[in-house]
Formats: sequence, C-alpha cells, structure tokens
Amino acid sequence: MANDKKLIPYGRQIIEQDDIDAVVSVLRSDFLTTGPVVDQFERAVAKKTGAAYGVSFSSGTAALHGIMASLDLGEGDEVITTPITFAATSNSVLYVGATPVFADVNPRTLLIDVNDVNRKITSKTKAIIVVDYAGNPCEYEKLRATASEHRLVLISDACHALGAEYHGRKVGGLADMTAFSFHPVKHVTTGEGGMVVTNNAEYYMKLRRFRNHGICDDYKARESKKTWCYEIETLGYNYRLSDIQCALGVSQLNKLDVWVERRNKIARKYDLAFKDIDIVQNLETAPNSKNAYHLYVLKVPENKRSEVFSILRTDGIGVNVHYTPVYYHPLYKRLGYEKGICPVAEMTYEQIISLPIFPALTEEDQDFVISRVKNAIL
Ligand SMILES: *Cc1c(COP(=O)(O)O)cnc(C)c1O
Repeated sequence: MANDKKLIPYGRQIIEQDDIDAVVSVLRSDFLTTGPVVDQFERAVAKKTGAAYGVSFSSGTAALHGIMASLDLGEGDEVITTPITFAATSNSVLYVGATPVFADVNPRTLLIDVNDVNRKITSKTKAIIVVDYAGNPCEYEKLRATASEHRLVLISDACHALGAEYHGRKVGGLADMTAFSFHPVKHVTTGEGGMVVTNNAEYYMKLRRFRNHGICDDYKARESKKTWCYEIETLGYNYRLSDIQCALGVSQLNKLDVWVERRNKIARKYDLAFKDIDIVQNLETAPNSKNAYHLYVLKVPENKRSEVFSILRTDGIGVNVHYTPVYYHPLYKRLGYEKGICPVAEMTYEQIISLPIFPALTEEDQDFVISRVKNAIL
C-alpha cells in the first residue's frame, strides 16, 4: 500500500477553480500590484480577525520585521519570546538590533509560560512576542496583565492561528499587533505573503510606510493631490504584496471557516485514536479557546521519536518536528545563547512529532497515518 502512494505531506494548500479565476481576472486588469485588491484583502483579513486595520506584506517574516521596526527598538533593548517557533519570530528582533530573550514553555501546550515571562523581564525589556503554537491561542488574559504592569508592547506571531479564538475573541484583536503568514502550508495562501493587523492607527501608518520604502503617501494619495512629490521620512523596504497575490488571498479567505472546521475534525480523530495509549500524549487546548490546528503535534517517548519519525517517513508520511529550539541554531550559538536556558522546551522538543493535518487529507490517508503511528509505537 505504501509503495504506490506518494508522500502524504504534513500540510498543503487547496487551490480551486474560483481561486484561479480570481487571479486571472487581476492579470487582465489595470493593476498587477498596489491596486484595489490589496485594500480589499487587507480589509477582509482585518474584519475576519477582529482588528481595525490590516497591512499586507510580502511574507509573514516581512510582517514581523515591520512590527519590530514600528516599535523603534535598538541595541540594548530586549524582547521576550519563545524558543519553540520558526526562527523568523526571534530573527525579527535581531533585524532591528535588539536582543531576543527566551522564556520557557508550558509542557502541555508548548505555549509560552507566562510565569517565566515574568521572571525574564528586566529594565531593558520593551516587548513580548508570543506564538500561538500549532494554532492554539496563548494565555492572552495573563499576558495582557503582565504587559500592562510593565508597560510592554504585546505582539502575537499568529502565523499558525488564522481563524483561532480565545475566550470568544478572534486572534487578531488580542495583542497590540498580530502577524499572519500566507505561505502555502498555512491556513490560506497567497503563494508568499503576510499581514499585520492592529487596532492602533499610529502603528498602522508606520507599518504602511515601512513596507513601501518609508514613503508617507502611496501613489493614490499623490494622484488625488495632483503632485509628484513624496517624502521619505524613515528607512523602509519594498515589502509589498501584489494585487495578483491578494486576489488569491481574498478568494481563499472565503473558505477559512470551513477549512478550520475540517482541521478540527482531523484533530479530534487523532485525539480519539491515541487517547488510550498511555505513552503518547496530544497537546491540550483550553476549553474556552478555538484551536486553528495549523499543526497536529503528538508527544511520544523521547527514546522512540527517531524510530517513529523514520518508520513514518519510509511509509511516505511527511512527519516533521516543529521546532528545534531556536537558540540551538548555530547563528544563535554564535550570539552566545547556551543550552539550558529553557529546560522544558529542550525536554519537550525531544518528544514531539507533527502528523499530517490539512483540509484535503482524506479519511483513508488519516487512517493509514494512525495505523502506522500505532505500529511504530506499540
Ligand atoms: C510561517 C511562519 C512565519 C514566517 O512566515 P513566512 O510567510 O514563511 O515568512 C513566522 N512565524 C511562524 C510561527 C511561522 O509559522
């Protein structure tokens, strides 16, 4: 059975005819980039995520860079974040010359441990970037309290969590600024792409400038003022997302709710399948949260992880490990980060494995994954 199958990936996009039609219609229009569809996509994502403003970027990483740049941080400033994330989260702190400080995670969720955040706050701390790991929202109530008490900016890297909710509120309106990614493995895709959503008008203006060379007005504002003049106030980049990509985004976003439901259904089936096996554990979602399940992560005994990984890979199942603690990377080692900073993250990292989860995963393929995991473990 395994041999005539192609790899079941851990995640993959769905592109339907209406997505293709939406892109083609932009290709036939007057604008390929920075036209009406960019605004349309930004408004749609902001609305969908409970925020006032959206600013699109060329990637989730560029969005995080924009967030850090709009905080006016520099050398000596510290930003607390999690080591269990894609390195782009803490790299964004390095982009602006500030220092990432890693706080440990909760072993049952792999979300940042708010008590450890509190322990790591110093007089140099300016912000906290949390990650809604796997699609599960962080403890925003406690994080908000900590941020207010110490006057810190609260940032959410919600690249896993488009469509997630916390206490009935959507991920997007819970932090001062929230970043999303539209990479094909995420919930909805634009090929490459990202967005920052915020309720703060000042951040909104700064983000827009930053992604367009630091220029205050865009071409439309100049057109309406009938002037060729523009001024560069601050250093910016070309991090724009095109109309072509935004057309795909608008079309994909219409399907988000259905896809998040499907991801939840797949997760419930995995939960049930492994419920009675003592040596494996799923991650917990708080009862008042809605998980968007970008990943389905299983904890297996640490001495069996490589075996499980290689057996499943041999069977054509694209299991993965999310993530190696960020400060294990040579770049971070060179910067002076050492093993032992976050013992829970380090221990849990040895146990985790991500199983395939994406809306187009068939029942048959999921049954195959479950049976192979059981086979490898029992
Ligand atoms: C995907 C991802 C990013 C980066 O997004 P890109 O669009 O690939 O640049 C950042 N943080 C996390 C947690 C992610 O999963």
